[in-house]
Amino acid sequence: MIRPVIMVFTRDLRVRDNPALVEAVATKRPLCGLFVFDDLIIKNNNLNSNRMGFLIDSLKDLELSLKKFGVDLIFRRGNWVEETTKLAKEINAEEIHMSADFSLIAKKRQEALSKSGDLNGFKIFQHQGVSVLEPGFVTPTDGSEYKIFTPYYRRWIKASWRKPLEVPDSIKSVSIEKDGFQIFEELKRKNFSPDLLKGGESEGIVRLNEWMAKELNSYEKGRDDIGADRTSRLSPYLHLGCISPLEVALQALKLGGDAFVRQLCWRDFYLQILDQRPDVSRNDYRDRKYTWNQDLDLLTLWKKGQTGFPIVDAGMRQLLSEGFMHGRVRMVVASFLTKDLHIDWREGSQHFMKYLLDGDIASNQLNWQWVAGTGTDSNPHRIFNPTRQSEKFDEDGNYIRRWVPELKDVDSKEIHEPSSEIRLEKKYPKPIVDHHEAIAIYKSKYSGSR
Ligand SMILES: Cc1cc2nc3c(=O)[nH]c(=O)nc-3n(C[C@H](O)[C@H](O)[C@H](O)COP(=O)(O)OP(=O)(O)OC[C@H]3O[C@@H](n4cnc5c(N)ncnc54)[C@H](O)[C@@H]3O)c2cc1C
Repeated sequence: MIRPVIMVFTRDLRVRDNPALVEAVATKRPLCGLFVFDDLIIKNNNLNSNRMGFLIDSLKDLELSLKKFGVDLIFRRGNWVEETTKLAKEINAEEIHMSADFSLIAKKRQEALSKSGDLNGFKIFQHQGVSVLEPGFVTPTDGSEYKIFTPYYRRWIKASWRKPLEVPDSIKSVSIEKDGFQIFEELKRKNFSPDLLKGGESEGIVRLNEWMAKELNSYEKGRDDIGADRTSRLSPYLHLGCISPLEVALQALKLGGDAFVRQLCWRDFYLQILDQRPDVSRNDYRDRKYTWNQDLDLLTLWKKGQTGFPIVDAGMRQLLSEGFMHGRVRMVVASFLTKDLHIDWREGSQHFMKYLLDGDIASNQLNWQWVAGTGTDSNPHRIFNPTRQSEKFDEDGNYIRRWVPELKDVDSKEIHEPSSEIRLEKKYPKPIVDHHEAIAIYKSKYSGSR
């Protein structure tokens, strides 16, 4: 009897351009799909309620797509390695195919599964698929990671990318008793945020095509118009692999979207750093010996969007409501937390991970570090003045009006830094710090450090 193969889906929840799936099908063995809800990830809260909902949407969509080929997607929950091994033994699988991933947890479980395969008589095959170019494809001459974005980008854009793969014509399936949808019902807690995007490959493709047709050509100018909300919002689909990063990049390049493709490169840039330094999910990439302020009251006001800085409050409230925040505003609120309140970037990144639909260890932790000055940026003392950012990128105050309704009737000239009288009348808080004083303190402590 021919022994079957298992395609273990992780964060490559698509049938289009999925190298692991294509290779599994190419074995010509009967195939079944598997997704394991990993208790370790659920317990670490790396899968917040917003992302859980999006994940479940995405899995349902994938299940339907596979069903068209007559292939079952099996769901299990528990220890990821044990559950995968258990299924492999149940169906006497010969091979397991999956996309390689690069966080500490992903690496550890991939390694443990390989060992389990040696013991239990199945082979593990890892494939690319979570990035345009996998970490290590381009490296500096010493073989380590690129630390500066621009040289990485120059190599990345000129590298020879693989060709996107066709969806298989047909897939042989293995018949297996299915556990059904109970797992979903048990895991689907109430979302934290009311206004979430729907997950899945089908949704992702529609969004991608509609957004590209409308916005790609003016992305460079439009992306910083905070109020107009013109960026793609593809990040959650990219994070879970509902759409292929390679296909997105190629489609954008064909349509002249070079500025957009450069942004996609940041995603790969941070992934290749995480691959070499998986500890940076918690540790400073460069230890700058900062001493952080432990003030929990200030941290709470920042989290709730009650700092008295309208652009910061707007961003923090958008995060609570949509599990999303505009990219430029992410930089402003992160700078405010670390440079104005002198609070540890880990507090901020943890709060982001709790709500973000696109919460991603590489992009989140390393962007936080970039802003905090502990990361890869060659200038550690980058400071975003919240009021100037607001005047420049939300000129008529539409973004603030949308998220800080107390200020919705305030004039565009006043809205970025309302007077004491307006604050009193609108019941909007006073600023919790003086920006210039806070920055002077930061500079007096750290401007000598490099
Ligand atoms: C403090 C902070 C935390 C962040 N946390 C995350 C996170 O957890 N997950 C995440 O995907 N992005 C994160 N980003 C990066 C960026 O803000 C988001 O990717 C972007 O805002 C998502 O919106 P979009 O899809 O509309 O972006 P677009 O402007 O349409 O960009 C297209 C795609 O390019 C990629 N991209 C753009 N900017 C960056 C960047 N700076 N770093 C990495 N990739 C980028 C994303 O995949 C994005 O979907 C963070 C940025 C900061 C400053």
